[in-house]
Amino acid sequence: MNKIQMTTPIVEMDGDEMTRILWKMIKDELLNPFIELKTEYYDLGLEHRNETDDQVTIDSAEATKKYGVAVKCATITPNAARVEEYNLKQMWKSPNGTIRSMLDGTVFRTPISVKGIEPNVKSWKQPITLARHAYGDVYKNVEIKVPGAGKAELVFTGEDGTEIRETIHVFDGPGVVQGVHNTNKSIESFARCCFNYAVDTKQDLWFATKDTISKKYDHTFKDIFQEIYDKEYAEKFKELGIEYFYTLIDDAVARVVKTKGGFIWACKNYDGDVMSDMVSSACGSLAMMTSVLVSPDGKYEYEAAHGTVQRHYYKHLKGEETSTNSVATIFAWSGALRKRGEMDGNNELMAFADKLEQATIDTIESGKMTGDLALITSLENVTKLNSEDFILAIRDRLQELLG
Ligand code: NAP
Ligand code: MG
Repeated sequence: MNKIQMTTPIVEMDGDEMTRILWKMIKDELLNPFIELKTEYYDLGLEHRNETDDQVTIDSAEATKKYGVAVKCATITPNAARVEEYNLKQMWKSPNGTIRSMLDGTVFRTPISVKGIEPNVKSWKQPITLARHAYGDVYKNVEIKVPGAGKAELVFTGEDGTEIRETIHVFDGPGVVQGVHNTNKSIESFARCCFNYAVDTKQDLWFATKDTISKKYDHTFKDIFQEIYDKEYAEKFKELGIEYFYTLIDDAVARVVKTKGGFIWACKNYDGDVMSDMVSSACGSLAMMTSVLVSPDGKYEYEAAHGTVQRHYYKHLKGEETSTNSVATIFAWSGALRKRGEMDGNNELMAFADKLEQATIDTIESGKMTGDLALITSLENVTKLNSEDFILAIRDRLQELLG
């Protein structure tokens, strides 16, 4: 069989622990036999990040800006225990955080639907994609524990010295006060990421805040989304037959659980934190979620939503059998290959990505799956496979699909 050729490289960001093991198996069994894989390789494994003083993470993000498509393996975010375990020069920052801030992106997470793993919300027939604004609000807050009676004020001092001052509250006893912020620039890129993603995936976009109560803060989010929509996207949406829908956050929550799904739900930072856990746990497992970081100028970084599965890795190191679910990592690769194909006009590569996903879903639906899914599936006669055998079963099905 002739291997599929690629014209432009994908930025490949290798990672840590069990997902690094899966990464190699996926390349060996599901990609290299079929594609003349062209990647620019960056080793984001913790040891190499430490050796390069984390320069490799920055280089990989720069490469993503250059080539437009990246695929990332899960990586360790060091804490005190990891500093000791890996004898680190310092507690390096989260690679995801570094890459996110360099690409100024929004994270989109979508459950992967398979028969036999049904959402707990019965009306959901198609996946709901959560788009989370990953900057500001309560995540960058400043708080004071008010010790006793006194006046709390909100003060802004312009560069020219002009002052805006509002009384927050006149306290007659102890209490608490909090300052939060966001910037128009960040809200604008969040809005563009969401509109672009809706156009890309041809799905409706929902957005909700509490603008009736927060008449300046949340209202600014609402206004920026509406302005950008009217100026830059309304026509495209009409052409594609998709809709932009704004409502209040409580109304959105009430409606979401009654829909059939199949749309993008854009959330402010805190709402996104809470609602993405609700959507993902209602759909079964973090290992059955796709995750992609999209920048406002159309750069894409695909990854798995879960971590490096440390507990399984330590079992693997002891020579014990593991049954780690590789679906999210496989879909990170298929997502990146399809996007590369789209950008390069490479139909063969796009078709391969579709078949790789189909083979993965078919394998699970035929009853062959890893332990995490075997525990929650409604299918009968299930075979629980180990990490490698699951990937080999997908390879068998992929070979059939490729003829
Ligand atoms: P984790 O890797 O997400 O795993 C937590 C638990 O969830 C596992 O022990 C396992 O449960 C289950 N699980 C997660 N993914 C699975 C999969 N693919 N197949 C089967 N089961 C799966 O979180 P962690 O072990 O707490 O974190 C390990 C490292 O990952 C940390 O150093 C953290 O910094 C890093 N992390 C990285 C990313 C990223 O790069 N995107 C995200 C989150 C965390 P059982 O043990 O019950 O089998
Ligand atoms: Mg959370």
